[in-house]
Amino acid sequence: MTISQATPALSTSPDELEDLDRRHLIHPLLSGGSTDRCVIVRGKGSTVWDARGNELLDMTGAGNWLAQVGHGRVELGEVMAEQVGRLSYFTSFSEFSNDQSIQLAKRLSTLAPEGFNRVLYTSGGSEAVDMAIKAVRLYHSRRGEPDRTWIISRQMGYHGSTYGGGSATGFDFVHHGVGPTLPHVRKVSPPFPFHPEMYGGEPITDFLVRELEQTIEEIGPGRVAAMIGEPVMGGGGVVEPPPDYWPRVREVLSRHGILLIADEVVTGYGRTGSWFASPERGMAPDVITTAKGITSGYAPLGAALMRDEIGDVVGGGDGFLHGFTYCGHPVGCAVALANLDIIEKEGLVPRSLLIGKWLRQGLAPAAELPAVGEVRVTGATVGIELVANRTTREPMPPPVASSVVKELQQAHGVIARAYGPVVVMAPPLVLEEGEAARAAEATVEVLSRLGTDGT
Ligand code: PLP
Repeated sequence: MTISQATPALSTSPDELEDLDRRHLIHPLLSGGSTDRCVIVRGKGSTVWDARGNELLDMTGAGNWLAQVGHGRVELGEVMAEQVGRLSYFTSFSEFSNDQSIQLAKRLSTLAPEGFNRVLYTSGGSEAVDMAIKAVRLYHSRRGEPDRTWIISRQMGYHGSTYGGGSATGFDFVHHGVGPTLPHVRKVSPPFPFHPEMYGGEPITDFLVRELEQTIEEIGPGRVAAMIGEPVMGGGGVVEPPPDYWPRVREVLSRHGILLIADEVVTGYGRTGSWFASPERGMAPDVITTAKGITSGYAPLGAALMRDEIGDVVGGGDGFLHGFTYCGHPVGCAVALANLDIIEKEGLVPRSLLIGKWLRQGLAPAAELPAVGEVRVTGATVGIELVANRTTREPMPPPVASSVVKELQQAHGVIARAYGPVVVMAPPLVLEEGEAARAAEATVEVLSRLGTDGT
């Protein structure tokens, strides 16, 4: 089978495509007023091309923190075609299964922390979070504690946009106008070392542990099912917690019989320099939610990995009366297996640290600029926080980061993303040294023209 890598001959002109898009598509996360469109038609490695023929350096992992193995991996297309020829789909409900989902489950158990031998598949990250929320409640209920229904999450944490994942998400704007969110979800403060003012002068972890204990007391210790958090906050602006944060949080939760869900939808599968980011940060989670990098985006797939004790209870008894048609989709699972092989064979997990080193070096001059508060690099992930005042660390209004990102794309052909006041990069893990240097140089150039008034 030959899969073409040429730029496709479009039957519709770029103008027409953009016009059709404006008329027919509702885009996630696009302000209704924006009429700009960027129609991507081809990708190879860390480069993508739009319908107008512009070549763009993808510093975003296909716009969504993934594309670990890069764009245009024909071998993954061949795996998909072969699997479709053999078995495109059959349900995983009840006693049915398929060989690819079984092989992937076995493989995941070798990559996950010790004792995580159970997996429940989904089609993406939000569904994995929803499933995890239900699973931890069911776990407690089956063990005789049906009142443990509360979930603690954090302001500025991102956990998706379904009602469950969205309710755990700590950005109020995702809830505007869509009615009540899931009940029994409480938010606590995030760990944010760049903003000590959030903690009123107290050491960050002391403040956060005290707040967590107080929140548990208020809800009632026997009523909290689990806490959910990203090991490193992604959508919150690439924020590493202080090293003692997760170990101390874990200790509090364990003391109260509360489970911990590590949301590794972004950090999983190599993004921060290890297969999973939670173990090395002392989280010792009970459930790990994943998606994105599991297939590098070549097929939609998510997976909630469970510690055996949790998985045995959730999968035992009367079973888990929860499932999606595409749980354990054989094509998605086949692609995931081949994708994980590439990540392993090409050493992309340690490579993310190398990419981080190149970007840290290249972006060093940005840290000195008047409108830059902090340059944060974790594995192959960067957050550049823009400030209106370097002394008070007052964040720049969000439209400023958006205009920086626009300028980077228009003037330099580099795609980055804006999250509030933070310019974020999460490139494919195949990014070359020269590409990292180019992206960093372009970013420094654009930011050096930015004043603290945001213009
Ligand atoms: N959890 C985290 C940490 C995420 O960053 C995301 C998406 O970016 C999600 C969950 C939701 O995943 P999805 O968009 O695949 O539903």
